[in-house]
Amino acid sequence: DWPALSHLTSASHLQRAMKVTEQQVRVMQGPWSPASVARDEVLRGHEEPFYIMDLGEVARRYNTWKELMPRVQPFYAVKCNDDKLLVSTLAALGAGFDCASKAEIELVTGLGVTPDRIIFANPAKLSSHIRYAREAGVTTLTVDSDTELLKIKQHMPDAELVVRIRCDASSAQCPLGIKFGCDPLLEAPRLLKLAAVLGLNVVGISFHAGSGAGETAVYSRGIRLARALFEAGDAAGHRMSLLDLGGGFPGHHGSSIREVSQVISEALSTYFPSGGVRVIAEPGRYFAAAAYTLFTLVHAKRQLPAEGEAPPHTMYFINDGVYGSFNCVLYDHQIVTPELLQESPESPTPCSIWGPSCDGLDCVIGSCQLPPLSIGSWLVWRNMGAYTIPVASPFNGFPVPTVKPVLDYRLWVLLRDVWSSTGAVFSHSSPPPSSPADCSPSSSLSPSPSPEGWARGND
Ligand code: PLP
Repeated sequence: DWPALSHLTSASHLQRAMKVTEQQVRVMQGPWSPASVARDEVLRGHEEPFYIMDLGEVARRYNTWKELMPRVQPFYAVKCNDDKLLVSTLAALGAGFDCASKAEIELVTGLGVTPDRIIFANPAKLSSHIRYAREAGVTTLTVDSDTELLKIKQHMPDAELVVRIRCDASSAQCPLGIKFGCDPLLEAPRLLKLAAVLGLNVVGISFHAGSGAGETAVYSRGIRLARALFEAGDAAGHRMSLLDLGGGFPGHHGSSIREVSQVISEALSTYFPSGGVRVIAEPGRYFAAAAYTLFTLVHAKRQLPAEGEAPPHTMYFINDGVYGSFNCVLYDHQIVTPELLQESPESPTPCSIWGPSCDGLDCVIGSCQLPPLSIGSWLVWRNMGAYTIPVASPFNGFPVPTVKPVLDYRLWVLLRDVWSSTGAVFSHSSPPPSSPADCSPSSSLSPSPSPEGWARGND
C-alpha cells in the first residue's frame, strides 16, 4: 500500500523535469511489475536495450528513510544517477542534493531546487566550479586539505565549510577513504584551526564510510569522531551545526536500512542528543539502484564445443555491455545476475554473456548457468539504477539504453492531488485509466492518451 507521502511537498519539480526531458511516464493500474511492462515493450519488436524505472520505488524508499531516520535529511548524491526524472522526483519529495561539480549544480538548480538544499561535496574542487557555486548561491562546501581552504579563501570566503574526515567501513564495494577524508585525530583539528586563522567559517563535519559499506558500526564511529571535532571546532571559534553522514547505504531489492538506521539513531542520541545540530546524509545507491530494471536482447550466440574436462559452452551476445550500463561491473564492482523475461522449462547450461562491442574486454559475465536462450530472448537485470547510466558511453555505435518511467496509478492519484494543490491545472473529468493507463498530469494532454498509451508530463 502507498504511504501517505506526507513528505511530498512539491510536485512541480516532477512536472518541470518531465517537460524538460519530454519524458513520458506510463501510469499503471492494477498489479504490474517492470517485467510485465517490458513484455509489452518487446512485443513492439525493437532491438534496443531499455530500462523500466519505477518512480514509486523512489517514493517508497524516501518514506522508509524518513520513517526510520526522521532526524537525518537525505541529500541525494547526484553522481549515482543523474536522470532528471529521478532527481526531480527526489526534489518533489523534499530531498536535498550532493553535487560534485558545476554541471551537477547546474542540473539540480535547473530543476528548481534552491541552493540551500545543495551541498558541494567534492573535497577537491576546480576553482571555476567554486565560482560557479557562489554565483548559484551554493555555499556549503566540503574540504579535507589546507590547499582547498586556501582556494576557498580566494573564491568563496563566506562559504560554510564542512571538514570531511576519513572513517572507513571494514569493507565496502567501493572504498573512498583512499582518496578523500583527512585524518580525524591529527589533520582535522589542525584544519579547523587553520580555517579560523584564515577567517573562514567551518560549520560541520562529514565522513563517507565507502560506497556499498559492508559494516553498520562505522556510522557510530564516524558520529563519535564528529562529536569530538565539534568540540574542537567550537573551541577554535567556529559555530559547529552540521553533521553529514555521507553515503554507503544499501540499495538493492531486499536490502534494508533498518539495522544501519538503528545504529545511527543510537549514536545520534548518545553524541548529539540535542536538536541544535542539523543532520544530513548523502545516499546515492539507496535511492537509485532498485528503481531501475534493465532489459537486454540476445542478438547473437556462439556454441563452443567441450574441451577436455570443460563441458560445451554457449557465448551469448547482448545489446548492452561494459561500455554501456555494465560499466558498473568494472567501476562499481557490481555482481550482476540475469533473469529470463520469458520463463523457460529447460535446465540451465554453462554459458557466458558478452556486450555488443568489438572489444574482447566487453564481457558482462564470464561464466554462469542459464536455460538455453535463442536469438531474440530478453534478459532482465534488476537493481541497475546506481552508477550505470551516467558512466555509460555509446562506444562502437551501441546506444546507451533509454529509460521508460512507470508510475503506479495510486501514486499518480496522490501526485495529482499535490499537483492540483500546487496550482497545476488538471482535468478531473477523465475516467480512471485501464491498464496500461492513459493519464496525464496535465489537462493540456488529458484525457486523451498519447497514441501509445504513455502520458506526457507538462507544466
Ligand atoms: N557522497 C560522496 C561524497 C560520494 O563520493 C558518494 C559516492 O561515491 C556518495 C555520497 C554516494 O554514496 P552511496 O551511493 O554509497 O550512497
